[in-house]
Amino acid sequence: MKMIAVLGAGIMGAGIAQVAAEAGYSVILRDLQNSLVRDGLTTIENNLDKRIIKGELNKDMRSAILNRIHGTIDLAELKDVDLVIEAVVENIAVKKQIFTELDNICSEDTILATNTSSLSITEIASSTRSADRILGLHFLNPVSQMKLVEIVKGMETSDATVNIACEFVSRIGKEYLVVNRESPGFIVNRILVPYINEAIFVYGEGLADQASIDKAMKLGAGMTMGPLEMADMIGLDTLYAVLLVFYNEFRDPKYRPHTVLSTMIRAGYLGKKSGRGFYNYESQMPYKEGGF
Ligand code: NAD
Repeated sequence: MKMIAVLGAGIMGAGIAQVAAEAGYSVILRDLQNSLVRDGLTTIENNLDKRIIKGELNKDMRSAILNRIHGTIDLAELKDVDLVIEAVVENIAVKKQIFTELDNICSEDTILATNTSSLSITEIASSTRSADRILGLHFLNPVSQMKLVEIVKGMETSDATVNIACEFVSRIGKEYLVVNRESPGFIVNRILVPYINEAIFVYGEGLADQASIDKAMKLGAGMTMGPLEMADMIGLDTLYAVLLVFYNEFRDPKYRPHTVLSTMIRAGYLGKKSGRGFYNYESQMPYKEGGF
């Protein structure tokens, strides 16, 4: 396997493209608009600059990594890739549409993976003619720092597809675990997302301010990051979408999102990526014309 493609140049797509290029793969990074592709490439450049400052990379290595990443908006450029990792918005209709298009464009040997946090791999695979080569490759955020990738089997994923995915994950220097049976949230998010949601309930009920809630879990429960900081890092829209999938799939009210979350999203507070969430990051944001 030499060439991979990543769909979506957002938080996860940019991170996945970076770690794959660092491991020597040629990467096509695709988003819907040139400006979004450029944003993704800028994120990668900034991440590599931080690694130079830490002494983990030199400038030649940085250039070599960036030269292996090609940004595009044209899906047809993916026809010769060996592996596609889809990391677009957490929306089943959008993902199914993309997989139908990929099924037509890519060769029948191409492995098609989704980075979904909560959606059904089997349902995504049903939009193609070859469900055996579809699986979940669930990277975690921030991709360059999180060691784990969950490899998730859909109902018809073949063992050969899983084996190739395991080899890929090892080659990019990550650990994997294979989730044998798909279920919303797999393992990590099944446990993590209700925990974050409970913190939002505590905030919504006014028990303490955001910093105190995060302090409680860092100093009182040994977490390296507070749950509300983590919500901002994940993206509040993505978190909300995942909670709704859990709620609808398990039919269990324990997964209902607090209304404070939907209200914040309606106000454009999507977390770190939009400059505002439970915390204010606007001073860290590059100026964006027309930003909210
Ligand atoms: P994001 O909002 O940061 O980025 C999504 C990107 O996908 C956007 O740039 C958008 O323009 C692009 N996009 C939408 N439709 C597209 C299409 N048809 N083709 C190409 N690009 C398209 O979202 P994210 O946080 O990177 O999440 C992406 C996926 O990864 C979701 O499925 C999410 O559940 C999953 N995920 C997210 C996290 C997290 O912490 N954010 C962690 C693990 C998995």
